[in-house]
Amino acid sequence: MKLSSRVSDMKTSITLKVNEKINKMLQNGIHVYNMTSGQLPFKPCGEFVSTLSKQLNFLKSYQYSPIAGMPKLRRKFIDFIEEKRGIDFGSVETPMECIISNGSKHSLYNVFGALLDPGDEVILLAPYWVSYPEIIKFWRGVPVIVKSHAFDAYTPALEDIEKAITDKTKAIIINSPNNPAGIHYTDSWMKNFAKFLNSHPELTIISDEIYSELSYFDPKPSYFYQFDKELLSRTVIIHGISKSFAATGLRIGFCIADAELTKAMAKVQSQTTSGPNSLVQRALVDFDFHLQDNYFDTVKEELRECAQIIRISFRDANLAHCYYQTNSAFYYLLDFSRMPFFKKFQLAHADLEESDLSKVIVDDILDKAGVALAPGSAFGYPNSARMSMTLDTAPFKEAIGKLTEYLTSK
Ligand code: PMP
Repeated sequence: MKLSSRVSDMKTSITLKVNEKINKMLQNGIHVYNMTSGQLPFKPCGEFVSTLSKQLNFLKSYQYSPIAGMPKLRRKFIDFIEEKRGIDFGSVETPMECIISNGSKHSLYNVFGALLDPGDEVILLAPYWVSYPEIIKFWRGVPVIVKSHAFDAYTPALEDIEKAITDKTKAIIINSPNNPAGIHYTDSWMKNFAKFLNSHPELTIISDEIYSELSYFDPKPSYFYQFDKELLSRTVIIHGISKSFAATGLRIGFCIADAELTKAMAKVQSQTTSGPNSLVQRALVDFDFHLQDNYFDTVKEELRECAQIIRISFRDANLAHCYYQTNSAFYYLLDFSRMPFFKKFQLAHADLEESDLSKVIVDDILDKAGVALAPGSAFGYPNSARMSMTLDTAPFKEAIGKLTEYLTSK
């Protein structure tokens, strides 16, 4: 059977591939520290779980939801973002709306489906979340990558973004806090980014804020539109409950944007998936979001503990100059290029393309240290790997010990 080029050209998720190998190892009785995960090892906040269970007895929980999501919940998500960011969507010149989808990945599919014509360019800031280029290409758009470096805190220079703009540029995506780097862009970068956007009125800005609640060291993340509210009218905010409610499996994401765009997204949604999960939406309508504050204090405490384990372990092993201290989400992007083992590896694999080297390294780390990481090339950053802080503290400490031993071997 001949598959469509749309699908043949699509890359398979890299964590899926690594996880196939992990499963084989586990079946053969080999212990693996799996640090590839994109989810925290915690159940959602208890009050949310009980609100959810109360909705099980209602017929409406099992019936179709309105296409764009339940109006009360759409309003609640708007209120949530207004309160968190100190903004007022009502003051924006053109009407802004919220549309709820089956996860924020789905929101992104709808946004690009509604925005892109073939050949339209979208700027991505590397390191970037793996799915962005694939979603853009699926809709026949062209991803244009702007690089950054670990030693600039994974923050791209605005001059480099400027150079990437052409007359085909339609949009730019920013993801702060960032997957995979575990950092968020600074206030001053956001302020300058707002100025930069003012000189590019043609750009739509997609702000993927899915990790905004998970910042465990101050200062907290800020956003360009907080420094210049006029930018809101061409900003598309992407958010959801996967990370900020620790509920990846419940599949609720949302988008706040110009009402014309959300209407177009609803059109795409109406002909694909219909409205999102009714049961979860009804529970979210009833749930007091503020109850999550205490819950997240505990989660952040755990993340700080893991960050401390890495800091001490890498400092003692003389690796302190090889990594960048993160402050949000739950990832570290380890840049291998200055690590002791790397030279040996590079020499032994001189025939490999740079983009393949991180895959081979990650494979070797899994075989020799039993620690599973996600290769950084998939995130647009070569010679690196993403490490998730998604194990309990005790196994996390063991895994970091084994990883450090590997990284310092010569
Ligand atoms: N954006 C980013 C940056 C992500 O890391 C993820 C999930 N890993 C998503 C969007 C999609 O999240 P979901 O579809 O679960 O809401």
